[in-house]
Amino acid sequence: MTMAQARPSGGSPHAAHGHPAAAAPLRVSDYFVRVGCDPLTEAFEKRSFAPPWRGSRPVESADVDAVVERIFATPRTETAVAYLHVPFCQTHCLFCGFFQNVWRPEAGPAYVDDVLAELAVRAATPLIASAPIDAVYIGGGTPSALAAEDLARLVEGLHRHLPLTGDCEITLEGRAFGFDLAKAAKVADAGVTRLSIGVQTFSTEVRRRLGRKLAGHEVHAFLSDLVALGRTAVACDLIYGLPGQTEATWSRDIEIVDALGLDGVTLYALNMFPGGPMARAIEKGKLSPPAAPAMQARAYADAVERLAGLGWLKVSQSHLVRSAREFNRYNAAIKRGVACLPFGAGAGGQAHGYRWRNVIDLAQRREMIAQHRAPVEGLALVPPYHAAHAMIAAGLEAGRLDLAAVETLRPGFRVAVAPLLANWAQAGLGELSGDGFKPNHAGAFWISNLTSGLTAGLQTATQAEPSGCCPGG
Ligand code: SF4
Repeated sequence: MTMAQARPSGGSPHAAHGHPAAAAPLRVSDYFVRVGCDPLTEAFEKRSFAPPWRGSRPVESADVDAVVERIFATPRTETAVAYLHVPFCQTHCLFCGFFQNVWRPEAGPAYVDDVLAELAVRAATPLIASAPIDAVYIGGGTPSALAAEDLARLVEGLHRHLPLTGDCEITLEGRAFGFDLAKAAKVADAGVTRLSIGVQTFSTEVRRRLGRKLAGHEVHAFLSDLVALGRTAVACDLIYGLPGQTEATWSRDIEIVDALGLDGVTLYALNMFPGGPMARAIEKGKLSPPAAPAMQARAYADAVERLAGLGWLKVSQSHLVRSAREFNRYNAAIKRGVACLPFGAGAGGQAHGYRWRNVIDLAQRREMIAQHRAPVEGLALVPPYHAAHAMIAAGLEAGRLDLAAVETLRPGFRVAVAPLLANWAQAGLGELSGDGFKPNHAGAFWISNLTSGLTAGLQTATQAEPSGCCPGG
């Protein structure tokens, strides 16, 4: 995957992974910042984890099948997005906490058959069929590891079974290793409109330490060829804060991204998973520790300022675009909390006031389908402030939070967060103007902390009636 941390409900930047879990309520008082410190590097000790499933309430296991049936039997009125997960990777990258299955070429055709069968079964349900879908994200894992013919079958299946809009954005996530121009042309023929390539860094030395197979110049050449092919939008991910990364290698990464003629780039902070392979390698002294948050903050701000100066447009905290064909529609929709329809093992979704994930384990998923049980886990009711939370997340991402609009969804919110916002403005994390709060570069770097602080405000605001649940939910 490009950067699993982003999955929406992705990482995954993409709504894929997420376990509803009980979490202690947040406290607004924990998010005040010392006025006078450097807001970019010192506002908080570390970036907070703001899981989108925070506050969700698990559904009793005895009720799961019936609730899933109701969700799929309830029509949508609004346009949705879809997420299709491919849970295989050629290697386990050291920084990643989302590795699921080792890629074996012989597993590809059977997996695609499974997903096509799932699409066919679900296609006629009111949840899927009742309203358009305007963005699909094929993420992982490493979807580009699949054979060109299997990828084409998948994309054709999406077109055959789902009510895609005429200009539906279909993103294929991948990495340069195991990808080639013939495969890129084939998926473009099938209907993929956007390729999102996980680069992380072009520094060969840093790449090798992370377990990436290709040298930086090989990835560079592949991206250059993809751009020249001209069949799809091409975007890539970079990570700052990697072990071994220096100001010089990061600066060079930004320079390369600009020179390549890409349509978009996403900048992620390294998110090290406790107990994961990178943490273990550092513990054993095999890898140097990652950059401190202050260095990450400077790397982020420098890159954003530099790219903006070169004509790139910052459309979210982490994503910059430079061409009219880069919409990044799926990720923006996920932040707004729109319905996300999940397909494939491990895909996460949300609709009608619930979120859930398709069972990850391939054998268990097949067994449940054979027993006519819903292959779903982690089904949970979203909290009553879900819509307000989505509005906060999307507003901060887009650069302006509309406080009056959040107040209409959650009465009492403004009073609950007024001292916090005044503190952030005074401390230099953004600007309060009228009904809006606009985070600056420092606020954008600490966006997960700002989101958590405002979520604490939602939790303490006047309780509103739960909304958006399907009948009987
Ligand atoms: S390719 Fe690497 S980063 Fe992507 S999901 Fe697999 S292990 Fe994680």
